[in-house]
Amino acid sequence: MSWTNYHSHCKFCDGSDQAYVYAEEAVDLGLAAYGFSSHAPTPFNNIPWAMEADNLRSYVREVNQLKDAWKNHIQIYCGLEVDYVPGVMGPKSLFIRNANLDYTIGSIHFVDALEDGRPWEIDSTGKVFEEGLEEIFGGNVELAVSRYYELTRQMILEECPDVIGHIDKIKMQNAGNKYFSESEEWYHNEMIITLDLIKHSRAIVEVNTRGLYKKKANETYPSQWVLKELYKRNIPVTINSDAHHPSEIVAEFEFAADLLKSVGFEYVYNLFDGKWRPFRFDKNGLALPIRA
Ligand SMILES: [Zn+2]
Ligand SMILES: [Zn+2]
Repeated sequence: MSWTNYHSHCKFCDGSDQAYVYAEEAVDLGLAAYGFSSHAPTPFNNIPWAMEADNLRSYVREVNQLKDAWKNHIQIYCGLEVDYVPGVMGPKSLFIRNANLDYTIGSIHFVDALEDGRPWEIDSTGKVFEEGLEEIFGGNVELAVSRYYELTRQMILEECPDVIGHIDKIKMQNAGNKYFSESEEWYHNEMIITLDLIKHSRAIVEVNTRGLYKKKANETYPSQWVLKELYKRNIPVTINSDAHHPSEIVAEFEFAADLLKSVGFEYVYNLFDGKWRPFRFDKNGLALPIRA
């Protein structure tokens, strides 16, 4: 049994090590497939976690070299985690389409802009979160969070990625229900209309374990109740770690697999032999085809 992971960061963005270190670790872990998904370049200044635009070509070249070098051991894929900022960039931007990627993860990290023009990062520090909440939304958390989900839906409608990244990441600011409860009607509704839209798209929703192993959330992204709603709608899911360090490549995958099983899921989707396909799984890994 082995795993796959398609959400990972390396030195080209805010990951700890060079790409080859992750590839070697993925081989050591016996992974069947591994995807690189550095943060795509953004046109904004001072975004230290995103790739420099000038490095995009070398990123794709380097990942493709690794793909080739390790082809007898693991399937390596080249992707990007792309921000969606209306009118500015998204998973279908020309520079993304021209990069010849194997897949895209579409994520919302930016919600509108602060008074000084800086884009508001919703998954930065609590201080930055408070700043945007006050300046842009007058302290109204319902408006802020609803805007986050509205942007998620706009991305799905206009520039649908292959994988939707950490769909409820905004909850990392809500530890201990600091701002709201996920059972509040407005929050529930925002999620449900988003899921109903995903159902009619071709997107896969990732089950992202980063909040768990970084102790920023006490559940996966998304929460268990959201997984139940995904299951009811037959929406495909994949398990990803959002690794920023080689030691995180399959962190909390056992937990995520058990959770998905308990909700009812029989399959997870994985990019394998060039296509996203369903595979049976359990907490020990995926039931992949046996190769000679
Ligand atoms: Zn992200
Ligand atoms: Zn990421």
